Amino acid sequence: MSRIYNFSAGPSMLPEEVLKTAAAEMLEYGNSGQSVMEMSHRSKEYDAIIKQAEADLREIMNIPDNYEVLFLQGGASTQFAMIPLNLMNKNKKADYVITGQWANKAYKEAARYGNARAVASSADKTYSYIPAVADSDFDPEADYVHICMNNTIYGTKWNNIPNTGNVPLVADISSCILSEPVDVSKFGVLYAGAQKNVAPAGLTIVIIRKDLIGNAMDITPTMLNYATHSENDSMFNTPPCYTIYVAGLVFKWIKKLGGLEKIAEINNKKAKILYDFLDSSKLFKGTVNPDDRSLMNVPFVTGNEELDAKFVKESKEAGFVNLKGHRSVGGMRASIYNAMPIEGVEKLVEFMKKFESENA
Ligand SMILES: *Cc1c(COP(=O)(O)O)cnc(C)c1O
Repeated sequence: MSRIYNFSAGPSMLPEEVLKTAAAEMLEYGNSGQSVMEMSHRSKEYDAIIKQAEADLREIMNIPDNYEVLFLQGGASTQFAMIPLNLMNKNKKADYVITGQWANKAYKEAARYGNARAVASSADKTYSYIPAVADSDFDPEADYVHICMNNTIYGTKWNNIPNTGNVPLVADISSCILSEPVDVSKFGVLYAGAQKNVAPAGLTIVIIRKDLIGNAMDITPTMLNYATHSENDSMFNTPPCYTIYVAGLVFKWIKKLGGLEKIAEINNKKAKILYDFLDSSKLFKGTVNPDDRSLMNVPFVTGNEELDAKFVKESKEAGFVNLKGHRSVGGMRASIYNAMPIEGVEKLVEFMKKFESENA
């Protein structure tokens, strides 16, 4: 068996230790005589799995008691509708900052249900920076403000969280969840599809302040109402059982490593190796405003499309896969989520140096 270095933006690498545990428990979980895949979600074994996963996530992220943790389906994309349906309930207004495709999709979806306003955008420079927003740019009458914390496609991150006063701040953290500590109490809602940094696809994690639940619009489908899921402990219907189990294994892995402080230290080290190289390279360069760089997604270019294609091809042959940039931006992108070992980034940089010496 040989495992490659997978720089996919999502679904993406999982920690090898987690995959090994899942493999060892595949045929029989504990003494249950069955796989987690086959288990009733109402069984006592499964109840322990989902409860432990929630408890561990609460511990790792230091989630205050006045927040609900929901394990849902439908991906982050379903949250683009659930957020307005549940939260646009007072003045039917919400503010969005447009920092990329995902932020824009969230904005467009919200505009179907009420008065969504684009407060600022970085579309003018292919979303290569986070626009400056002053506290006074936000409408104090808005029901919420939405940001996309880490912009997976463009490689930017909000390194300073905007201050929205009493207006709840909602953040899509799909591609940065569990990458570093975050002060949950600053947010009304945090949500993430699991397939970037947590688990296989199929699970969406929602962390929501309890007072924001229970005032959904009348037209809200039952399944899209946060109250439905919070009242039923994420068991209104069959949850994505196996994915929650793997997420639980990842939470345990993070705890064992030393929690999010430690994870952040490792992620900063990994990202620095790559950014330092990009800053000194004569061939490659990063595409993002240095102050707004993501720890998780690192886009770069040579400035020559043919050379980019050659790099993607040769890197693949050398065992570094999924380095092609998103179809909307071209170039390259290395997604270096939690499960990517430091060694993977070091070897990639070695390969880039070699490519540079052969092609510069
Ligand atoms: C991947 C991604 C999405 C889309 O997630 P789905 O789970 O596929 O709906 C949304 N937002 C961000 C920031 C992402 O990285």
